[in-house]
Amino acid sequence: MVVKSRFAPSPTGLMHMGNARTALFNALYAKGHQGTFLIRIEDTDEARSEDQYTEALLDDCHWLNITWQEGPHQEQGRGPYFQNQRQDIYDYYYQQLIDKNLAYPCFCTEQELAVHRKLQVAQGLPPRYAGTCRHLTPEQIEKKKEKGLKAALRFAVPKGIKIRFEDLIFGIKDFMSDDLGDFVIQKQTGGACFMFANAIDDALMGVTHALRGEDHLTNTPRQILILEQLGLTPPLYGHFPIILGQDGKPLSKRNGSQSIQALREQGFLPLAILNYMARLGHYYDTPTFLSYEELASQFQLEHIGRNPARFDYQQLLFWQKEALKVLSEADYLAWFQAELKTAWSDTKWSQFAALMRDNVVLPSEVKAWAEQLSQTHFEWDEESQQLLANTPKTYWSIAGEVLKQSGADYQAVINQLKTTLELKGKALFMPLRLALTGKMHGPELAKVLQFLGPEEAIRRLQQQA
Ligand code: GLU
Repeated sequence: MVVKSRFAPSPTGLMHMGNARTALFNALYAKGHQGTFLIRIEDTDEARSEDQYTEALLDDCHWLNITWQEGPHQEQGRGPYFQNQRQDIYDYYYQQLIDKNLAYPCFCTEQELAVHRKLQVAQGLPPRYAGTCRHLTPEQIEKKKEKGLKAALRFAVPKGIKIRFEDLIFGIKDFMSDDLGDFVIQKQTGGACFMFANAIDDALMGVTHALRGEDHLTNTPRQILILEQLGLTPPLYGHFPIILGQDGKPLSKRNGSQSIQALREQGFLPLAILNYMARLGHYYDTPTFLSYEELASQFQLEHIGRNPARFDYQQLLFWQKEALKVLSEADYLAWFQAELKTAWSDTKWSQFAALMRDNVVLPSEVKAWAEQLSQTHFEWDEESQQLLANTPKTYWSIAGEVLKQSGADYQAVINQLKTTLELKGKALFMPLRLALTGKMHGPELAKVLQFLGPEEAIRRLQQQA
């Protein structure tokens, strides 16, 4: 089978980990099988869909390197790929269902439906449509229409059948049609409902694999029913568990979810995000950093877990570190220089970049260090002040003398301090670090010393004397 997978976002907000991961899983699966990956914009909800979100979604996919072979700007397949341009197609299939007596107009108001639902829940029954309008005669329907009442279109679910499908992740799933209840497929306004448009489009676009969040699992039997009744072929469906935040609740803005755009603005690298996301609920035998091609070739549906994945920011930072390691010198400089402007020369910048390479994961940290090291006077915290106060005065002159004679030779400085003052551990190393950087932690001191140069280092030491 030639694989065709798809990402079908509703453009009602920015792309977050959840839908970005859905896009990625589908794209990796297609690529790993030499198949096609398709993007379809599900903008049937007119009130909530916005063009700016469509653009942002596509832009994020581009940036992440999740490329699509069919979809917006790639119109060579079976488009259009915007659902709001496909109404005539949906109308055609509505008519087919009506002609087959498989769909009927429903005039029930929200209020009436709510009352029915309440009654059912009170009786301990699962809430489903009571079937009020299922048997209206053509005359009754006509009368209601004449009165100006608006109707939605409901799918008449066949009674007493079992719908079985094999979920690509959860295995065999059985649903009884009587538990589903007749459901709305066309809104009162005439617009298509998600359930319907999504199923029709998958079938017409030749989608073979629909990988999506577990929240859609109960839609699947309904969608399969619609397609089967229309003689269309459903895709294979695979549902993967949702992502939880650290607090065990579904991942949302409240518990740490950030948009892809926000991550991008902070300086996260696309491959860092991809390496992280591809492991969010899916495991790789290779624990190391992978290229996009490797992520795809090693992606396996069998490796998707059935338990919810947990978002872990520390893990994301870990992959960011890995991604930084493989950046070329030029890309690395471009990565953080974009937002930094200092008076340093190009040479100074490259030295600084080398100094930072193993110490930072985000440009904001580079910025903080650039500012920190350009300072001429530090403000030490209390612990540091204490440490400096306990340092013998001769420490500074001894260190300064070595610098004068041997240049920025860290080892020479330390050796001299050690033998002359008999210091060790923190008392030996820390005063130097504090005097040169103002901080207790940071980049390798030998490199800091070289970066500052002996003159500047001596100047900083003299401030202590
Ligand atoms: N538009 C739906 C959503 O964003 C698509 C669901 C699906 O992938 O089938 O949730």
